[in-house]
Formats: sequence, C-alpha cells, structure tokens
Amino acid sequence: MHQDIKEILFTEEQIAARVRELGAQITKDYAGKTILMCGILKGAVTFFTDLARCIDGPVYFDFMSCSSYGSSTTSSGVLKIRKDLDNDVKDKDVLIVEDIIDTGVTLSHLVPMLQERGARSVKLATLLSKPARRQVEVPVDYNGFEIPDAFVVGYGLDYDSRYRNLPYIGILKEEVYSK
Ligand code: 5GP
Ligand code: MG
Ligand code: MG
Repeated sequence: MHQDIKEILFTEEQIAARVRELGAQITKDYAGKTILMCGILKGAVTFFTDLARCIDGPVYFDFMSCSSYGSSTTSSGVLKIRKDLDNDVKDKDVLIVEDIIDTGVTLSHLVPMLQERGARSVKLATLLSKPARRQVEVPVDYNGFEIPDAFVVGYGLDYDSRYRNLPYIGILKEEVYSK
C-alpha cells in the first residue's frame, strides 16, 4: 500500500467485480441500441475504459473536461467546459461516465445541457457516490459504490494530480493535505 494512503476502501479485485456487474446491467438495458459513452476527464478515464470492455454491444467513445466553480457555502456553481464533446449528441443515447458524485453540482448542470442538445436519452454511470455530501439531487442510473464522507484517491481519482495510477481506491491520509 502507498505510504500516503490511510485505508483501502476497494481493492482492484472488488472494483473489477463491480464494474463487470455494471457492464452486464448496461448491456441488458441498452440491447438493440448504440451507446455514446461520454467520459468526464480526467478522473473517470480508468473506470471508463474498464466499463467499456464489460459492455457487450456497440459503443462510441467521447470525452469532455469541465470544472464547477462556486463557494463551498452555496449550493450553486457555474459549470465551465474546458473541452467539449466531439460528437453531436442529437438523437443519441448518451451514457455519462463519471468518477465520483460529491455535491452533485457538476452533473446537475451537465445532464440538462446534454438533454437540451437533443440527446434521445441521457443516463449516468458513476463509480462512486458520496450521498452525505449531496447539495443537488442527481438521478444516478448506475452506481458502483456508495462511500462515506472521506477524500479518496486512486483508480483515476487524484489529489493535486497525483495517485491516479493506484489500482485501488483508498482514503488519503489527512497529513498529506496539510503538508
Ligand atoms: P461535484 O459532484 O461536487 O460537483 O463534483 C464531483 C467532482 O469533485 C468529482 O468528479 C471529482 O473530480 C471531485 N471529487 C469529489 N470528491 C472527491 C474525492 O473524494 N476524491 C477525489 N479525488 N475527487 C473528488
Ligand atoms: Mg469527475
Ligand atoms: Mg480532481
């Protein structure tokens, strides 16, 4: 285990098993359809590529990068798009793939935005969810794991751009923040 990790929440094997379950469910739900998978950079990349390989059916890949700004004391936030999707989502069945839903602010902007662009359907898959932190309700169609209110890294998730390559999901030691 990495020295900056306090506790492993989900091992590589546990994640793989859960991702396979999600992929099987998505395969069933989208039978006869083509999925436009839209990954949110960069944290969702690891989950995205593993999930895609567990979906048995036609899939297209696309990515976008965004950040939500807003003070932590308000439930509002403005979504800034740094890199938009390459695809026109009109009449497409869009599956947003996110690493973690925390306050819900990011997704509460993104889902309506893709609906307004004319997507036939917009569903949401997230590896992790922190329900205790939610400020805005977002309907999650596929959720890997619910986690407590702790800052986690690994399997794509970063702190200060580090730890994305850890194969497991772990809670970061508090002393790492205060360094
Ligand atoms: P929100 O749901 O608050 O709009 O934002 C979710 C985003 O905040 C995630 O996509 C992720 O980038 C970041 N985030 C929230 N909680 C965590 C966490 O525990 N660890 C990491 N690494 N990022 C988090
Ligand atoms: Mg994210
Ligand atoms: Mg981050």
